[in-house]
Amino acid sequence: MTDDRVDSALAFGTGTSSDHADGIRWVDYTNISWNPVFCKRCDICIEICPKDTLVMRNDAVIEVENCILCGLCERYCPDLAIEMIPSAVEAHAARSAERRTSEGAATAD
Ligand code: SF4
Ligand code: SF4
Repeated sequence: MTDDRVDSALAFGTGTSSDHADGIRWVDYTNISWNPVFCKRCDICIEICPKDTLVMRNDAVIEVENCILCGLCERYCPDLAIEMIPSAVEAHAARSAERRTSEGAATAD
């Protein structure tokens, strides 16, 4: 599935990843990095994403919104062209732990 729902304010990522030492340009979005060189535009990541977070526009995979960091796009990309951004994964884990703690405290009340 390809889609044009992304709006121009999202532009083309937010920069290039410093997490990769391979010298190849990765495009960082909020939660995922995408590699335009490795990617063969097969749409698997777009089809498999449970939140319709990814779109293909102008030959680029773009993260739009609602990513839940489930990791399916990274796991199923046949060309290793998507990775979750480590700092986003850590922040997500911290938020989840915080929520569990507050829910536990509410249950104990
Ligand atoms: S990590 Fe999950 S929710 Fe986020 S873009 Fe990938 S498949 Fe979609
Ligand atoms: S699954 Fe991988 S190769 Fe296919 S479109 Fe997505 S990023 Fe590109």
